[in-house]
Amino acid sequence: MSVIVVEAGSHWRPPEFVQDTAWAYRNIYTEQGARSAVGNAVIPVPGGRGVGGSTLINSAICFRTPRKIMDDWAQNHGCWRLAPDPMRARLDRVWRELRVVVNPVIFQRNNNLIFKKGADALGLPGQWLARSAPGCVGCGVCYLGCPTGGKTSVDLTFLTVAIDTGRCVVHGDCRVAELDVQGDRVTAVRGAIVDPSTLQDAGRFDVRAKVFVLSAGPVRTPQLLLSNGLAESATCGAWLYLHPATGVLARFQQEIRPWSGVTQGFYVDRWEQGYLLQTYTSSPDQAYTGMPYSLGDELLELVADLRHTAMAGPLVHDEDSRGGVSLQGMTYFLGDGDRRKLLAGMRECARVFFAAGAISAYPGVAGGGPIASLGDIDRAIPDTLPARRIYLYASHPMGTCRMGADPTSSCVDPDGRVWGWANLHVADASVFPTSLGVNPQVTTMALGLTVAEAIQQTA
Ligand SMILES: Cc1cc2nc3c(=O)[nH]c(=O)nc-3n(C[C@H](O)[C@H](O)[C@H](O)COP(=O)(O)OP(=O)(O)OC[C@H]3O[C@@H](n4cnc5c(N)ncnc54)[C@H](O)[C@@H]3O)c2cc1C
Repeated sequence: MSVIVVEAGSHWRPPEFVQDTAWAYRNIYTEQGARSAVGNAVIPVPGGRGVGGSTLINSAICFRTPRKIMDDWAQNHGCWRLAPDPMRARLDRVWRELRVVVNPVIFQRNNNLIFKKGADALGLPGQWLARSAPGCVGCGVCYLGCPTGGKTSVDLTFLTVAIDTGRCVVHGDCRVAELDVQGDRVTAVRGAIVDPSTLQDAGRFDVRAKVFVLSAGPVRTPQLLLSNGLAESATCGAWLYLHPATGVLARFQQEIRPWSGVTQGFYVDRWEQGYLLQTYTSSPDQAYTGMPYSLGDELLELVADLRHTAMAGPLVHDEDSRGGVSLQGMTYFLGDGDRRKLLAGMRECARVFFAAGAISAYPGVAGGGPIASLGDIDRAIPDTLPARRIYLYASHPMGTCRMGADPTSSCVDPDGRVWGWANLHVADASVFPTSLGVNPQVTTMALGLTVAEAIQQTA
Protein backbone atom coordinates (compact mmCIF):
# COMPACT_ATOMS: atom_id res chain seq x y z
CA MET A 1 0.00 0.00 0.00
CA SER A 2 1.03 3.62 -0.42
CA VAL A 3 0.94 5.41 2.90
CA ILE A 4 0.85 9.05 3.98
CA VAL A 5 1.70 9.78 7.63
CA VAL A 6 0.66 13.16 9.06
CA GLU A 7 2.02 14.17 12.46
CA ALA A 8 1.23 17.28 14.49
CA GLY A 9 4.83 17.78 15.71
CA SER A 10 7.95 18.42 13.66
CA HIS A 11 10.35 15.96 12.04
CA TRP A 12 13.57 16.35 14.03
CA ARG A 13 17.06 14.97 13.45
CA PRO A 14 19.06 13.92 16.55
CA PRO A 15 21.59 16.81 16.49
CA GLU A 16 18.70 19.32 16.49
CA PHE A 17 17.56 18.35 20.01
CA VAL A 18 18.57 21.04 22.51
CA GLN A 19 19.59 19.73 25.94
CA ASP A 20 17.36 22.12 27.82
CA THR A 21 14.08 21.20 29.52
CA ALA A 22 12.27 24.41 28.55
CA TRP A 23 13.21 23.90 24.88
CA ALA A 24 12.11 20.26 25.00
CA TYR A 25 8.76 21.00 26.65
CA ARG A 26 7.98 23.64 24.06
CA ASN A 27 9.08 21.70 21.01
CA ILE A 28 8.76 17.96 21.57
CA TYR A 29 6.25 17.54 24.42
CA THR A 30 2.51 17.46 23.92
CA GLU A 31 0.71 20.38 25.57
CA GLN A 32 4.21 21.78 26.17
CA GLY A 33 4.79 19.37 29.06
CA ALA A 34 1.70 20.42 31.03
CA ARG A 35 -0.61 17.47 30.25
CA SER A 36 -2.12 16.06 33.45
CA ALA A 37 -4.91 13.84 34.75
CA VAL A 38 -7.11 15.06 37.56
CA GLY A 39 -9.15 13.01 40.04
CA ASN A 40 -8.32 12.21 43.66
CA ALA A 41 -4.83 13.57 42.86
CA VAL A 42 -3.21 15.57 40.08
CA ILE A 43 -0.91 13.45 37.92
CA PRO A 44 1.44 14.87 35.28
CA VAL A 45 1.15 12.66 32.16
CA PRO A 46 3.85 13.77 29.69
CA GLY A 47 3.77 12.65 26.08
CA GLY A 48 5.94 13.22 23.02
CA ARG A 49 5.07 15.42 20.03
CA GLY A 50 6.95 14.95 16.78
CA VAL A 51 7.63 12.32 14.14
CA GLY A 52 8.34 9.32 16.37
CA GLY A 53 5.80 10.34 19.04
CA SER A 54 6.64 9.55 22.65
CA THR A 55 9.57 7.36 21.58
CA LEU A 56 11.42 10.66 20.98
CA ILE A 57 11.42 11.31 24.73
CA ASN A 58 11.08 7.87 26.26
CA SER A 59 13.73 6.03 28.27
CA ALA A 60 13.96 3.16 25.76
CA ILE A 61 13.04 0.44 28.29
CA CYS A 62 11.86 -2.70 26.50
CA PHE A 63 9.64 -5.50 27.82
CA ARG A 64 7.86 -8.13 25.79
CA THR A 65 4.12 -8.33 26.50
CA PRO A 66 3.66 -10.60 29.57
CA ARG A 67 2.12 -13.96 28.59
CA LYS A 68 -0.56 -13.70 31.27
CA ILE A 69 -1.73 -10.41 29.72
CA MET A 70 -1.86 -11.81 26.18
CA ASP A 71 -3.87 -14.82 27.45
CA ASP A 72 -6.31 -12.46 29.19
CA TRP A 73 -6.70 -10.26 26.10
CA ALA A 74 -7.31 -13.27 23.84
CA GLN A 75 -9.53 -15.31 26.18
CA ASN A 76 -11.51 -12.68 28.10
CA HIS A 77 -11.68 -9.83 25.56
CA GLY A 78 -11.97 -11.86 22.33
CA CYS A 79 -8.77 -10.32 20.87
CA TRP A 80 -7.72 -13.49 19.08
CA ARG A 81 -4.95 -11.71 17.12
CA LEU A 82 -3.27 -10.86 20.45
CA ALA A 83 -2.88 -14.47 21.67
CA PRO A 84 0.72 -15.45 22.56
CA ASP A 85 1.29 -17.51 19.38
CA PRO A 86 0.49 -14.88 16.73
CA MET A 87 2.08 -12.16 18.88
CA ARG A 88 5.43 -13.95 19.20
CA ALA A 89 6.63 -13.19 15.65
CA ARG A 90 5.58 -9.54 15.94
CA LEU A 91 7.33 -9.09 19.27
CA ASP A 92 10.45 -10.73 17.80
CA ARG A 93 10.29 -8.33 14.85
CA VAL A 94 9.98 -5.28 17.13
CA TRP A 95 12.92 -6.52 19.22
CA ARG A 96 15.03 -6.95 16.07
CA GLU A 97 13.98 -3.67 14.47
CA LEU A 98 14.79 -1.69 17.65
CA ARG A 99 18.08 -3.59 18.12
CA VAL A 100 17.28 -4.06 21.82
CA VAL A 101 20.32 -4.50 24.07
CA VAL A 102 21.45 -4.27 27.69
CA ASN A 103 23.81 -1.31 27.78
CA PRO A 104 27.39 -1.90 29.00
CA VAL A 105 28.09 -1.29 32.70
CA ILE A 106 30.49 1.53 31.78
CA PHE A 107 27.49 3.61 30.63
CA GLN A 108 25.19 2.72 33.55
CA ARG A 109 27.08 4.88 36.08
CA ASN A 110 26.39 5.40 39.76
CA ASN A 111 22.64 6.07 39.79
CA ASN A 112 22.01 2.58 38.41
CA LEU A 113 24.98 0.90 40.11
CA ILE A 114 24.05 2.06 43.62
CA PHE A 115 20.48 0.73 43.30
CA LYS A 116 21.84 -2.57 42.00
CA LYS A 117 24.18 -2.70 44.98
CA GLY A 118 21.27 -2.33 47.42
CA ALA A 119 19.02 -4.79 45.56
CA ASP A 120 21.82 -7.37 45.45
CA ALA A 121 22.51 -6.89 49.17
CA LEU A 122 18.84 -7.64 49.92
CA GLY A 123 18.75 -10.57 47.47
CA LEU A 124 15.96 -8.98 45.41
CA PRO A 125 15.20 -10.12 41.83
CA GLY A 126 16.99 -7.24 40.13
CA GLN A 127 18.19 -7.05 36.53
CA TRP A 128 19.64 -4.66 33.98
CA LEU A 129 16.89 -3.26 31.79
CA ALA A 130 16.81 -4.20 28.11
CA ARG A 131 16.69 -1.01 26.03
CA SER A 132 16.09 0.18 22.49
CA ALA A 133 19.29 2.19 22.66
CA PRO A 134 22.08 0.16 21.07
CA GLY A 135 24.22 3.28 20.66
CA CYS A 136 23.62 4.70 24.16
CA VAL A 137 26.61 6.44 25.72
CA GLY A 138 24.90 7.22 29.04
CA CYS A 139 24.36 10.96 28.68
CA GLY A 140 21.14 10.61 30.73
CA VAL A 141 18.94 12.92 28.65
CA CYS A 142 16.60 10.53 26.80
CA TYR A 143 13.60 12.63 27.81
CA LEU A 144 15.03 15.72 26.04
CA GLY A 145 15.43 13.86 22.72
CA CYS A 146 18.43 11.59 22.12
CA PRO A 147 21.14 13.90 20.74
CA THR A 148 23.40 11.11 19.44
CA GLY A 149 20.85 8.97 17.61
CA GLY A 150 21.84 6.13 19.97
CA LYS A 151 18.19 5.47 20.80
CA THR A 152 16.24 3.63 18.11
CA SER A 153 13.09 5.74 18.28
CA VAL A 154 10.36 5.07 15.71
CA ASP A 155 11.47 7.91 13.41
CA LEU A 156 14.86 6.20 13.08
CA THR A 157 13.54 2.64 12.70
CA PHE A 158 10.04 1.65 11.49
CA LEU A 159 9.40 4.96 9.72
CA THR A 160 12.80 4.92 8.01
CA VAL A 161 12.15 1.40 6.77
CA ALA A 162 8.74 2.52 5.47
CA ILE A 163 10.12 5.64 3.76
CA ASP A 164 12.90 3.57 2.15
CA THR A 165 10.29 1.43 0.36
CA GLY A 166 9.43 4.54 -1.67
CA ARG A 167 5.75 4.04 -0.87
CA CYS A 168 5.50 6.07 2.34
CA VAL A 169 5.78 9.81 2.92
CA VAL A 170 5.81 11.50 6.32
CA HIS A 171 4.61 15.06 6.83
CA GLY A 172 5.44 16.75 10.14
CA ASP A 173 3.71 19.92 11.38
CA CYS A 174 0.28 18.69 10.19
CA ARG A 175 -2.38 18.46 12.90
CA VAL A 176 -5.49 16.45 12.04
CA ALA A 177 -8.79 17.95 13.23
CA GLU A 178 -11.64 16.60 11.14
CA LEU A 179 -12.63 13.35 9.49
CA ASP A 180 -15.12 13.41 6.58
CA VAL A 181 -17.49 10.46 6.24
CA GLN A 182 -19.85 9.04 3.67
CA GLY A 183 -22.09 6.12 4.67
CA ASP A 184 -19.96 3.86 6.87
CA ARG A 185 -16.65 5.04 5.40
CA VAL A 186 -14.21 7.80 6.17
CA THR A 187 -13.31 9.63 2.97
CA ALA A 188 -10.75 12.24 4.10
CA VAL A 189 -8.96 13.77 7.07
CA ARG A 190 -8.52 17.51 7.26
CA GLY A 191 -6.49 19.72 9.49
CA ALA A 192 -4.05 22.57 9.96
CA ILE A 193 -0.45 23.00 8.90
CA VAL A 194 1.33 24.20 12.04
CA ASP A 195 4.04 26.85 12.06
CA PRO A 196 6.62 25.22 14.38
CA SER A 197 8.06 28.57 15.50
CA THR A 198 4.73 29.98 16.74
CA LEU A 199 2.68 26.75 17.02
CA GLN A 200 -0.09 28.69 15.24
CA ASP A 201 -2.05 27.42 12.24
CA ALA A 202 -0.34 28.42 8.99
CA GLY A 203 -2.52 26.74 6.38
CA ARG A 204 -4.85 23.80 5.71
CA PHE A 205 -4.39 20.30 4.32
CA ASP A 206 -6.56 17.35 3.50
CA VAL A 207 -5.74 13.73 2.76
CA ARG A 208 -8.00 11.32 0.90
CA ALA A 209 -7.38 7.58 1.18
CA LYS A 210 -8.95 4.12 1.09
CA VAL A 211 -8.04 3.23 4.67
CA PHE A 212 -7.42 5.49 7.69
CA VAL A 213 -5.47 4.67 10.85
CA LEU A 214 -5.54 6.92 13.90
CA SER A 215 -2.32 6.78 15.97
CA ALA A 216 -2.58 10.07 17.84
CA GLY A 217 -1.94 8.39 21.21
CA PRO A 218 -4.30 7.38 24.02
CA VAL A 219 -5.47 10.93 24.71
CA ARG A 220 -5.87 12.52 21.28
CA THR A 221 -7.15 9.42 19.43
CA PRO A 222 -10.35 9.11 21.53
CA GLN A 223 -10.74 12.89 21.47
CA LEU A 224 -10.60 12.88 17.64
CA LEU A 225 -13.21 10.12 17.51
CA LEU A 226 -15.48 11.90 20.00
CA SER A 227 -15.14 15.39 18.53
CA ASN A 228 -16.00 14.04 15.08
CA GLY A 229 -18.98 12.05 16.37
CA LEU A 230 -17.44 8.75 15.22
CA ALA A 231 -17.74 6.92 18.56
CA GLU A 232 -19.79 7.17 21.74
CA SER A 233 -18.42 8.18 25.11
CA ALA A 234 -19.85 4.94 26.61
CA THR A 235 -17.13 2.99 24.80
CA CYS A 236 -14.59 5.61 23.62
CA GLY A 237 -12.43 7.25 26.28
CA ALA A 238 -14.40 5.35 28.91
CA TRP A 239 -11.29 3.65 30.33
CA LEU A 240 -7.82 4.98 31.03
CA TYR A 241 -4.86 3.17 32.57
CA LEU A 242 -1.69 5.07 33.41
CA HIS A 243 0.81 2.87 35.31
CA PRO A 244 0.92 5.39 38.18
CA ALA A 245 4.46 5.87 39.46
CA THR A 246 6.30 7.76 42.15
CA GLY A 247 9.88 8.30 43.26
CA VAL A 248 12.26 8.02 46.19
CA LEU A 249 15.45 10.06 46.40
CA ALA A 250 18.36 9.04 48.62
CA ARG A 251 21.47 10.88 49.75
CA PHE A 252 24.84 9.18 49.82
CA GLN A 253 28.29 10.10 51.05
CA GLN A 254 29.75 9.23 47.66
CA GLU A 255 29.04 11.15 44.46
CA ILE A 256 26.14 9.81 42.40
CA ARG A 257 25.56 12.51 39.75
CA PRO A 258 22.00 11.35 38.95
CA TRP A 259 21.89 13.30 35.69
CA SER A 260 24.55 11.04 34.24
CA GLY A 261 24.41 7.46 32.94
CA VAL A 262 21.75 5.29 31.32
CA THR A 263 18.46 7.09 32.05
CA GLN A 264 16.74 3.99 33.38
CA GLY A 265 19.15 1.07 33.57
CA PHE A 266 18.15 -1.25 36.42
CA TYR A 267 14.94 -2.66 37.90
CA VAL A 268 13.59 -4.99 40.56
CA ASP A 269 10.89 -7.33 39.30
CA ARG A 270 7.79 -7.29 41.52
CA TRP A 271 5.36 -7.93 38.66
CA GLU A 272 3.58 -10.67 40.61
CA GLN A 273 3.00 -8.14 43.43
CA GLY A 274 1.73 -5.55 40.92
CA TYR A 275 4.70 -3.22 40.57
CA LEU A 276 8.25 -2.80 39.26
CA LEU A 277 10.99 -0.73 40.90
CA GLN A 278 12.96 1.21 38.28
CA THR A 279 15.82 3.67 38.53
CA TYR A 280 15.52 7.02 36.77
CA THR A 281 17.80 9.97 36.14
CA SER A 282 16.86 13.61 36.26
CA SER A 283 18.54 16.84 35.26
CA PRO A 284 18.91 19.42 38.07
CA ASP A 285 16.12 21.65 36.70
CA GLN A 286 13.70 18.74 36.37
CA ALA A 287 14.63 17.46 39.84
CA TYR A 288 13.91 20.90 41.26
CA THR A 289 10.52 21.39 39.60
CA GLY A 290 9.49 17.82 40.28
CA MET A 291 10.30 17.64 43.96
CA PRO A 292 7.47 16.79 46.31
CA TYR A 293 8.48 19.11 49.11
CA SER A 294 7.08 22.55 49.71
CA LEU A 295 9.59 25.28 48.91
CA GLY A 296 12.00 25.90 51.72
CA ASP A 297 15.30 25.02 53.28
CA GLU A 298 14.95 21.26 52.95
CA LEU A 299 14.30 21.46 49.20
CA LEU A 300 17.14 23.87 48.59
CA GLU A 301 19.50 21.72 50.64
CA LEU A 302 18.62 18.63 48.63
CA VAL A 303 18.93 20.43 45.29
CA ALA A 304 22.25 21.94 46.35
CA ASP A 305 23.46 18.43 47.12
CA LEU A 306 21.96 16.76 44.04
CA ARG A 307 25.30 15.27 43.05
CA HIS A 308 25.05 12.95 46.09
CA THR A 309 21.46 11.91 45.34
CA ALA A 310 20.17 8.69 43.73
CA MET A 311 16.69 8.12 42.30
CA ALA A 312 14.33 5.17 41.81
CA GLY A 313 10.64 4.49 42.18
CA PRO A 314 7.77 2.04 41.76
CA LEU A 315 5.64 1.79 38.61
CA VAL A 316 2.28 0.18 39.35
CA HIS A 317 0.17 -2.20 37.25
CA ASP A 318 -3.13 -0.36 37.73
CA GLU A 319 -5.95 -2.72 38.57
CA ASP A 320 -8.53 -0.95 40.73
CA SER A 321 -8.00 2.67 39.62
CA ARG A 322 -10.55 4.22 37.27
CA GLY A 323 -9.88 6.84 34.61
CA GLY A 324 -11.18 8.19 31.34
CA VAL A 325 -10.65 10.70 28.53
CA SER A 326 -13.28 13.17 27.36
CA LEU A 327 -13.09 16.34 25.25
CA GLN A 328 -12.38 18.19 28.52
CA GLY A 329 -9.27 16.14 29.38
CA MET A 330 -8.22 13.19 31.52
CA THR A 331 -9.63 12.00 34.84
CA TYR A 332 -8.00 9.38 37.03
CA PHE A 333 -8.97 8.12 40.47
CA LEU A 334 -6.25 6.08 42.15
CA GLY A 335 -7.82 2.94 43.65
CA ASP A 336 -7.08 1.73 47.15
CA GLY A 337 -5.23 -1.40 46.01
CA ASP A 338 -3.06 0.56 43.56
CA ARG A 339 -2.37 3.19 46.24
CA ARG A 340 -1.12 0.46 48.58
CA LYS A 341 1.14 -0.98 45.87
CA LEU A 342 2.69 2.46 45.33
CA LEU A 343 3.35 2.81 49.06
CA ALA A 344 4.78 -0.74 49.29
CA GLY A 345 7.05 0.05 46.34
CA MET A 346 8.22 3.29 47.92
CA ARG A 347 9.07 1.52 51.19
CA GLU A 348 10.97 -1.14 49.28
CA CYS A 349 12.94 1.48 47.31
CA ALA A 350 13.92 3.17 50.58
CA ARG A 351 15.07 -0.20 52.01
CA VAL A 352 17.18 -0.81 48.88
CA PHE A 353 18.83 2.60 49.24
CA PHE A 354 19.63 2.05 52.94
CA ALA A 355 21.04 -1.39 52.07
CA ALA A 356 23.32 0.42 49.60
CA GLY A 357 24.53 2.79 52.33
CA ALA A 358 22.24 5.82 52.01
CA ILE A 359 22.50 8.52 54.68
CA SER A 360 18.84 9.50 54.27
CA ALA A 361 15.92 8.93 51.91
CA TYR A 362 13.20 11.27 50.63
CA PRO A 363 9.92 9.55 49.69
CA GLY A 364 7.53 10.94 47.09
CA VAL A 365 5.17 12.16 49.78
CA ALA A 366 3.92 15.74 49.73
CA GLY A 367 4.63 17.40 53.07
CA GLY A 368 6.76 14.44 54.21
CA GLY A 369 10.26 14.88 55.53
CA PRO A 370 13.46 12.92 55.06
CA ILE A 371 13.77 9.37 56.40
CA ALA A 372 16.83 9.17 58.63
CA SER A 373 17.16 5.40 59.06
CA LEU A 374 15.84 2.01 58.04
CA GLY A 375 13.68 1.84 61.17
CA ASP A 376 11.94 5.06 60.17
CA ILE A 377 10.57 3.87 56.82
CA ASP A 378 7.19 2.45 57.92
CA ARG A 379 6.43 5.56 59.98
CA ALA A 380 7.32 7.90 57.08
CA ILE A 381 5.37 5.93 54.45
CA PRO A 382 2.32 4.50 56.28
CA ASP A 383 -0.37 2.54 54.45
CA THR A 384 -2.88 5.23 55.42
CA LEU A 385 -1.40 7.98 53.21
CA PRO A 386 -4.16 9.32 50.94
CA ALA A 387 -3.67 9.53 47.16
CA ARG A 388 -3.49 13.34 47.23
CA ARG A 389 -0.32 13.19 49.38
CA ILE A 390 1.55 10.84 47.07
CA TYR A 391 3.69 12.59 44.48
CA LEU A 392 2.43 10.86 41.34
CA TYR A 393 3.72 10.73 37.79
CA ALA A 394 2.61 8.67 34.79
CA SER A 395 3.95 8.39 31.26
CA HIS A 396 2.06 5.32 30.05
CA PRO A 397 -1.54 6.22 29.18
CA MET A 398 -3.32 3.18 27.68
CA GLY A 399 -6.65 1.55 26.97
CA THR A 400 -8.85 4.53 26.01
CA CYS A 401 -10.13 2.90 22.77
CA ARG A 402 -9.90 -0.65 23.94
CA MET A 403 -10.04 -3.60 21.59
CA GLY A 404 -12.63 -6.32 22.10
CA ALA A 405 -15.14 -8.63 20.50
CA ASP A 406 -18.18 -6.95 22.10
CA PRO A 407 -19.18 -3.55 20.64
CA THR A 408 -20.95 -2.59 23.88
CA SER A 409 -17.75 -2.85 25.94
CA SER A 410 -14.99 -1.96 23.46
CA CYS A 411 -14.23 0.80 20.95
CA VAL A 412 -12.41 -1.17 18.24
CA ASP A 413 -12.94 -4.73 17.00
CA PRO A 414 -10.22 -7.46 17.06
CA ASP A 415 -8.88 -6.05 13.74
CA GLY A 416 -8.45 -2.63 15.35
CA ARG A 417 -11.38 -1.25 13.29
CA VAL A 418 -13.55 1.35 15.03
CA TRP A 419 -16.96 -0.29 15.56
CA GLY A 420 -19.42 0.98 12.96
CA TRP A 421 -16.82 2.19 10.44
CA ALA A 422 -15.61 0.06 7.54
CA ASN A 423 -12.22 1.68 6.90
CA LEU A 424 -11.19 3.45 10.14
CA HIS A 425 -8.64 1.76 12.41
CA VAL A 426 -6.77 2.67 15.58
CA ALA A 427 -3.16 1.54 16.07
CA ASP A 428 -1.58 2.96 19.22
CA ALA A 429 -1.58 2.35 22.98
CA SER A 430 -5.28 3.32 23.06
CA VAL A 431 -6.28 -0.16 21.96
CA PHE A 432 -4.79 -2.09 24.92
CA PRO A 433 -7.77 -3.95 26.42
CA THR A 434 -6.34 -3.53 29.96
CA SER A 435 -3.34 -2.16 31.80
CA LEU A 436 -0.11 -3.95 30.91
CA GLY A 437 2.08 -3.83 34.01
CA VAL A 438 5.35 -3.32 32.11
CA ASN A 439 6.68 -0.42 30.03
CA PRO A 440 4.49 -0.41 26.91
CA GLN A 441 6.42 0.69 23.81
CA VAL A 442 7.21 -2.81 22.52
CA THR A 443 3.60 -3.94 22.99
CA THR A 444 2.37 -0.74 21.29
CA MET A 445 4.56 -1.44 18.26
CA ALA A 446 3.52 -5.12 18.15
CA LEU A 447 -0.12 -3.95 18.22
CA GLY A 448 0.69 -1.62 15.31
CA LEU A 449 1.95 -4.62 13.35
CA THR A 450 -1.18 -6.57 14.38
CA VAL A 451 -3.51 -3.89 13.00
CA ALA A 452 -1.38 -3.59 9.84
CA GLU A 453 -1.71 -7.35 9.29
CA ALA A 454 -5.48 -7.12 9.76
CA ILE A 455 -5.72 -4.27 7.23
CA GLN A 456 -3.61 -6.23 4.74
CA GLN A 457 -5.93 -9.24 5.10
CA THR A 458 -9.25 -7.42 5.09
CA ALA A 459 -8.95 -4.11 3.18
C1 LIG B 1 8.72 10.55 29.23
C2 LIG B 1 8.30 9.19 28.74
C3 LIG B 1 9.11 8.07 28.99
C4 LIG B 1 8.70 6.81 28.57
N1 LIG B 1 9.56 5.75 28.73
C5 LIG B 1 9.23 4.54 28.20
C6 LIG B 1 10.14 3.47 28.23
O1 LIG B 1 11.29 3.61 28.68
N2 LIG B 1 9.75 2.26 27.72
C7 LIG B 1 8.48 2.07 27.22
O2 LIG B 1 8.16 0.94 26.84
N3 LIG B 1 7.61 3.09 27.15
C8 LIG B 1 7.95 4.32 27.59
N4 LIG B 1 7.10 5.37 27.46
C9 LIG B 1 5.77 5.12 26.84
C10 LIG B 1 5.82 4.90 25.34
O3 LIG B 1 6.73 5.76 24.72
C11 LIG B 1 4.40 5.11 24.82
O4 LIG B 1 3.55 4.20 25.49
C12 LIG B 1 4.26 4.90 23.32
O5 LIG B 1 5.15 5.72 22.61
C13 LIG B 1 2.83 5.21 22.94
O6 LIG B 1 2.70 5.19 21.55
P1 LIG B 1 1.43 5.82 20.88
O7 LIG B 1 1.58 5.56 19.43
O8 LIG B 1 0.21 5.33 21.57
O9 LIG B 1 1.45 7.39 21.16
P2 LIG B 1 2.61 8.46 21.05
O10 LIG B 1 3.93 7.80 20.94
O11 LIG B 1 2.39 9.40 22.17
O12 LIG B 1 2.36 9.19 19.64
C14 LIG B 1 1.26 9.99 19.38
C15 LIG B 1 1.63 11.01 18.31
O13 LIG B 1 0.46 11.53 17.73
C16 LIG B 1 0.65 12.90 17.47
N5 LIG B 1 -0.66 13.55 17.41
C17 LIG B 1 -1.53 13.79 18.42
N6 LIG B 1 -2.63 14.41 17.97
C18 LIG B 1 -2.46 14.56 16.64
C19 LIG B 1 -3.27 15.14 15.63
N7 LIG B 1 -4.46 15.68 15.89
N8 LIG B 1 -2.78 15.16 14.35
C20 LIG B 1 -1.56 14.61 14.06
N9 LIG B 1 -0.77 14.04 15.00
C21 LIG B 1 -1.22 14.01 16.27
C22 LIG B 1 1.46 13.38 18.67
O14 LIG B 1 2.11 14.60 18.36
C23 LIG B 1 2.42 12.20 18.87
O15 LIG B 1 3.61 12.38 18.15
C24 LIG B 1 7.46 6.64 27.88
C25 LIG B 1 6.66 7.75 27.61
C26 LIG B 1 7.08 9.02 28.02
C27 LIG B 1 6.18 10.19 27.72
